[in-house]
Amino acid sequence: SKREGRNRYHFFSKAVDDAASARLQLEADMRRALAAGQFIVHYQPVVHGRTRDAVAVEALLRWDRAGQGLQSPAVFIPVAEESGLIVPMGHWVLRQACEQLRAWSGTALGGISVAVNVSPVQLAQADFVDTVADVLHATGVDGSRLEFEITESTLMQDPEATLEMLRRLKGLGVRIAIDDFGTGYSSLGHLKRFPVDTLKIDHTFVRDLEADADDRELVRAILAMARSLRLHVVAEGVETEAQAAILAAMECPAFQGYLFARPAGAAVTAAWLQDRAAT
Ligand code: C2E
Ligand code: CA
Ligand code: CA
Ligand code: CA
Repeated sequence: SKREGRNRYHFFSKAVDDAASARLQLEADMRRALAAGQFIVHYQPVVHGRTRDAVAVEALLRWDRAGQGLQSPAVFIPVAEESGLIVPMGHWVLRQACEQLRAWSGTALGGISVAVNVSPVQLAQADFVDTVADVLHATGVDGSRLEFEITESTLMQDPEATLEMLRRLKGLGVRIAIDDFGTGYSSLGHLKRFPVDTLKIDHTFVRDLEADADDRELVRAILAMARSLRLHVVAEGVETEAQAAILAAMECPAFQGYLFARPAGAAVTAAWLQDRAAT
């Protein structure tokens, strides 16, 4: 009946209102947290596949939301992207990561490089390269110490504009990694066109390496392709010795995952790195 229809409408519209207001609240809280310095950068080591020396760290954003504990970036990054807040937020992460590199230079960790996740929304900003150049200049960090991780889908969204942006970033000496590799649709031909340095094999292919022969073949194929294109490879989400052994047998150049170290604050990660930095 008409009455039921209206009730249902009210029901859905209330649910939509609730979701919208929760999202607005999240956005407002993020904005405040950014201004108040309530975000934190955690660092997770990347290790050499054979020697297991630490070769790099990935910067991962954390938000200790008042009264609600640590929020997952998987939840708040998409909202930050929709609202555009990812632009100042990403700038802040980059700045933190470079200041950390600066602090580590001249110590046993001087050879470490840092990987920073970059959102497609950031890449679409006309002044992104200038922003990066400013941060490098202000912190005195060499561009070669920095790697930007972008996803395959970012690459494919607007290939021409992205190619131009990546070329300009390469001009600063920054390296480019394709994140979550294997989950998108980039072809070999595409990869060759882009100035990419590293492939990060998505954790979903690493997870079932022991049980799934198809995944083993897929990873083997990615590694063979990377070798012929002279690309560096990091396998993500390595959690067990068995996975590491399979990857090592395939001569995977580098690993990242809980087996080695979880993401942690700079001091904890630095202590871990002190023991394992290549000398
Ligand atoms: P990602 O770039 O693929 O980062 C790797 C994720 O895998 C991280 O989740 C990390 O904590 C997790 N991880 C590491 N080792 C293991 C493992 O052995 N097993 C499993 N199951 N997971 C592992 P996290 O920190 O929750 O970040 C989630 C995503 O949020 C990231 O995925 C990235 O896409 C995004 N993100 C994080 N920080 C930033 C940032 O500063 N900027 C942007 N744009 N995105 C970010
Ligand atoms: Ca990443
Ligand atoms: Ca990834
Ligand atoms: Ca991801």
